[in-house]
Amino acid sequence: MHATGLQCKRCGWQGELELTYQCPLCGYSLDVLYDYNRVDVRAFQKSLETYYCMWSFGQLLPVQDPEAIVSMVEGNTPLYQSKQELGCRLYLKDETRNPTLSFKDRPNTVGISVAKELGFKEVSIASTGNGGASLSAYAAKAGMACHVCVPDVTPLGKVLQIAYHGAELIRCQGDYSDSFRRNAALSEKMHWANVTSTYINPYTIEGDKTIAYEIFAQLGNRIPDWIVVPLGAGPLLSGIYKGFRELNLLGLCSSLPRMVGVQAEGCAPIINAWRQHKQKVTAWVHCDTVAGAIADPLTGYESDGTRTLQCIYESDGVGVKVSDASILQAVENLARYEGIFAEPASAATQSAVQTLCAEDVIKEEDVVVGIITANGLKDSEALYEYSQQKDKQHGAAGR
Ligand SMILES: *Cc1c(COP(=O)(O)O)cnc(C)c1O
Ligand SMILES: [Zn+2]
Repeated sequence: MHATGLQCKRCGWQGELELTYQCPLCGYSLDVLYDYNRVDVRAFQKSLETYYCMWSFGQLLPVQDPEAIVSMVEGNTPLYQSKQELGCRLYLKDETRNPTLSFKDRPNTVGISVAKELGFKEVSIASTGNGGASLSAYAAKAGMACHVCVPDVTPLGKVLQIAYHGAELIRCQGDYSDSFRRNAALSEKMHWANVTSTYINPYTIEGDKTIAYEIFAQLGNRIPDWIVVPLGAGPLLSGIYKGFRELNLLGLCSSLPRMVGVQAEGCAPIINAWRQHKQKVTAWVHCDTVAGAIADPLTGYESDGTRTLQCIYESDGVGVKVSDASILQAVENLARYEGIFAEPASAATQSAVQTLCAEDVIKEEDVVVGIITANGLKDSEALYEYSQQKDKQHGAAGR
């Protein structure tokens, strides 16, 4: 409601609240500005106590006309204290509990609502599956046409969601970056609103940031020491950090959390840059990981990775890469000890917490929140294959 315009995250260029995909001066990605002085802080505090869905935080979301909002009660997900003893005070934010079973409903409800408000009739997205499944559902709800570019290796569960919601499914050869490029070109030509959740759409991270508000409320108006987030290009991480910064700007908290970015060893462009103390991210050459939802090589939009890297530095955060074996073990442990069935990309969160506790980067008394981004049923092929292999190993051990 109190959004005032767009601003370039690099050179400071400012523009109107339109669907602008990059800075006209320097090409970098954009960010939504607000007039924080106009926010009714008391009402915002009230919404921290009584929120029903993400849109309860509408004062800090970029839609003016309530009629434009396309919502399916996204957000308001549980925060559980972990039952496993991993070496810190770990909480799990269960984003599998969103309408289409992933956190992508948060960026998409904002992205599609802004598109509708601006008069677009058709939306599009490049996705490794979850983003597409989500946007397809929201487009169905809104009666808008939807076009989804996915890599041809996308798991069946996600593809079925997209198809059943009636979106046009465009399977693309190659990795996620190839789908990204195809969708950007098609969207430009056909005048579809591009809701892809890299930073190309400046509005979607506004949805991601509501996770911060909820965590703050759920911890009894406290700021955790660490937030652990699996990264594609990283808007989820930057969005959550923006949410905490806003709480700070509104005078509701005095500290900020340190952000942990997590990638798989088989696709870790942002983490490698962090480990080498670089200021810029370079593209990954060949992605190979079981965590398909975060396999983004960033080819052609490396600066999106750089924006995430800068956010990790700014928060005094850390980058971690984890092996596929540890990810699959974490899927099992989350299911077995927490009652949460998570897809591999989401379980990477838990592998990272274990790594950082073992390295004593995260201390025993630290309060840590791990984001569990999507449901395991969405990637059932990978998990079925893993369970079969495990059965075989057990067999060989002479059960
Ligand atoms: C999209 C996605 C991520 C990464 O989020 P980004 O904002 O693209 O970095 C993590 N986990 C899952 C399951 C996802 O679908
Ligand atoms: Zn610029």
